[in-house]
Amino acid sequence: MEILERFLNYVAIDTESNENSDTCPSTSKQLDLADLLVKEMTDMNLSDVYVDQHGYVYGTVAANIDKEVPIVGLIAHMDTSPDFSGKDVKPNIIESYDGNDVLLNKEKNIVMKVEDFPNLKKYIGKTLITTDGTTLLGADDKAGIASILHAIDEIIKSGMPHGTVKIAFTPDEEIGRGADLFNVEKFGADFAYTIDGGEIGELNYENFNAASCVITINGVNIHPGSAKNKMKNALLIGMELNDMLPKNEVPSATELREGFYHLNDFEGNVECAKMNYIIRDHFMDSFEKRKELMNEAVMYLNKKHGVNTVSASMKDSYYNMLEKFGDNQMHIIETAEKAMEMADVMPHISPIRGGTDGSRLSYMGLVTPNIFTGGFNFHGKFECIPLESLEKSSEVVKNIIKIYAE
Ligand SMILES: [Zn+2]
Repeated sequence: MEILERFLNYVAIDTESNENSDTCPSTSKQLDLADLLVKEMTDMNLSDVYVDQHGYVYGTVAANIDKEVPIVGLIAHMDTSPDFSGKDVKPNIIESYDGNDVLLNKEKNIVMKVEDFPNLKKYIGKTLITTDGTTLLGADDKAGIASILHAIDEIIKSGMPHGTVKIAFTPDEEIGRGADLFNVEKFGADFAYTIDGGEIGELNYENFNAASCVITINGVNIHPGSAKNKMKNALLIGMELNDMLPKNEVPSATELREGFYHLNDFEGNVECAKMNYIIRDHFMDSFEKRKELMNEAVMYLNKKHGVNTVSASMKDSYYNMLEKFGDNQMHIIETAEKAMEMADVMPHISPIRGGTDGSRLSYMGLVTPNIFTGGFNFHGKFECIPLESLEKSSEVVKNIIKIYAE
């Protein structure tokens, strides 16, 4: 099977996850893809192929060499983002793309404009796979699954020498739960790669340290006409708190490795108000300082407005995987870079301004950087992947296995 056919088979299956569901997988339709993957891996003669009770798919490619080499893990996720429909995906395939605006849907006049997505110019002459404008594509992350299984298929068919390779496909990555029930111990890899990145060449091994912070403000309401020295307006106290945070350290004013405080919800009335913040920072010491500053602001306001007026409930969400790369583990990155160079792909290393399942897994004992699938504009109708980029992703996966067998 060609990689394109493989990819199109996967995107035809609706696997949208649902953050309002408590089950795992969050939607049972993800199991439709899980079952197909189990069948394909079984047909490829992989061993220990199964889907567990939480919808995680595992499989092992047994080594065909005697010498001891690292056990490499390969991971992709099966679900698609609930941000946009993943039902009835009807991909358009545009051969030898001419560099002009792309008409996705004639009837509804949905156009992907070069003006809005200037990166399209990089793909002149390539084969673009797009949506029909009514759904997302699901290249995130079915391209990752296709990349992995195509590489494994080629490795097995060619008889290329290889060590043991462990494969896992996870549910519910898009709702932040992909690592929750991942069985790192049973997986048994020495380290792994998620194939879940963006454009060709992307390689990530740094991400944010992340915390959430819920601020609760208890005010005192009184008729405004007789409120002097009595009323405590929870909304104004909330604004006072936000004023104490650095003005320029917000998402709209930061990039690269600059951290921020992000107020993403503020609701309430005079009596009671709630603010939801997220705190992000690539560096552990400044991450801790950000949380301290928040606590100090709360203490100050309680001194000023009375004890228990303001409370903060802070919780760490995930950490920068870079902290988990010891000096003796940089080979994981160096090998990925070398594998890209072997495939004539220029590695593009960038810090993620978010988290990945790999960051969680790295703290669960499985160091897991992230490699490109080739796709872009994820989570919406303009999602797109050049076929040649997907092929390169698969070639990089194959090269990694090759390098570790030598
Ligand atoms: Zn993804």
